[in-house]
Amino acid sequence: MKHLVDKMYDFHFLSKDEFISLIEHRDKELSDYIFKRASSVSHQIFGNKIFIRGLVEFTNYCKNDCFYCGIRKSNKNCERYHLSDEEILGCCQTGYSLGFRTFVLQGGEDGSYKTDDICRIVDSIRRKYPDCAITLSIGEKTYKEYKLFFDYGADRYLLRHETANDEHYRKLHPDNMSLENRKQCLYALKEIGYQVGTGFMVGSPFQTIENIAEDLEFIQSFSPHMVGIGPFIPHKDTIFKNEKPGSIELTLFLISILRLILPKALIPATTAVGTLDSKGREKAILAGANVLMPNLSPIGVRKKYALYDNKICTGEEAAECKSCLEKRVESIGYRIVVDRGDYGQR
Ligand code: SAH
Repeated sequence: MKHLVDKMYDFHFLSKDEFISLIEHRDKELSDYIFKRASSVSHQIFGNKIFIRGLVEFTNYCKNDCFYCGIRKSNKNCERYHLSDEEILGCCQTGYSLGFRTFVLQGGEDGSYKTDDICRIVDSIRRKYPDCAITLSIGEKTYKEYKLFFDYGADRYLLRHETANDEHYRKLHPDNMSLENRKQCLYALKEIGYQVGTGFMVGSPFQTIENIAEDLEFIQSFSPHMVGIGPFIPHKDTIFKNEKPGSIELTLFLISILRLILPKALIPATTAVGTLDSKGREKAILAGANVLMPNLSPIGVRKKYALYDNKICTGEEAAECKSCLEKRVESIGYRIVVDRGDYGQR
C-alpha cells in the first residue's frame, strides 16, 4: 500500500477504489509511513508554523434538526443564547490582543440574525480590524446573502458537506435538508471568491469506508482551501446518543490523506480530536494538520455551545487556552504565529 501513499505524494490524486484499498489495508506501519510523508509536505509548505483562528460561537439557536447535533432545533434541553454585537466585538478585541488575526463567527442557523445584522457585524469587525481575516460558519444561505457578506468584508466560509453520499446524508438529516443544496452553497461560495472550507465527521452513524472514499473524491474534485474533519461524538440529547464515537486513529490517517491530496490546504487539528484523545491535536499536527481553532467565546456560554458531549476547553479564559496550545505545539517542535494564515501563503 505504500505505493498509493507515494502516488498521492507525487500526483495529489487517487481513484475511489484506491482510497478504499488504502483505508481498508491500513496498519501501524502504513500509518507511520503516511504520517511521515504528510508531515514532510506540511514542512515543505509551512515550515513549523501553526496558524490560529479565534472561534466565536455567537449563537446556539438553530432552525435545523441535524440528527447528530446537540444544538438541533428539537433539543429542548439545550439552553439557548446569542451574543450581542458588543459581545462579539469584545471577543474579537480579546483575540486581537492575544495575537489572533482570523476571527471565525460560527453558529446555528439562527433566524433572529437577519441578513442586515450579519452584514453589520461583519462590517464592524472589518472596519476595526482591517488586518484580520473574517470567517463565517453560519450554514446554508442564498447566493445573494453570501455575496453581501463577502462585499461587507467576509473573506472565508466554513461549510462542511458532512457526507458526499446522498443516501448517507439522508440518514443524518431531516427531509427538508439536502446534499444537493449543501453542495450548491459550496459552489456559490467559491464562485463569489471566498476561501472555502468543507469537511465531514469521521465515524458518523451508518458511515462506510466507501462513503469516506466518496468524501475524499468530492474534496479532491472541489479542491477547497480548508478542510475540517473530526470524529463524530454522540450527544446525549440526540437520537444518536448510544452510537459509538468515531476513531481517532482513522481520523489521523485521513488527515494525512488530505494533506497529500491538497498540499497547500489549511487543515485544523479540531476540538473534537482533542476531546476524544488528550494528545489528539498534537497527533493531528504530526499527521499533517496546520491550524488550531481555540475558543474566544465568553466563558459563560461555552458549555451551551455543545454540539457533542464532553467538549474540551469550556472553562478556560482565551489567554489560558492560547498559552496551553503554545506549550502543546512547542512540545512537538512547532510554533504558533501571529498571522492571517491565508491560503497559498507560506
Ligand atoms: N450551522 C453551521 C455550523 C455547524 S457546527 C453549519 O451548518 O455549517 C460545525 C460542525 O460541527 C458541523 O458541520 C458538524 O460537522 C460538526 N458536528 C456537529 N455535531 C457533531 C457531533 N455530534 N460530533 C462531531 N462533530 C459534530
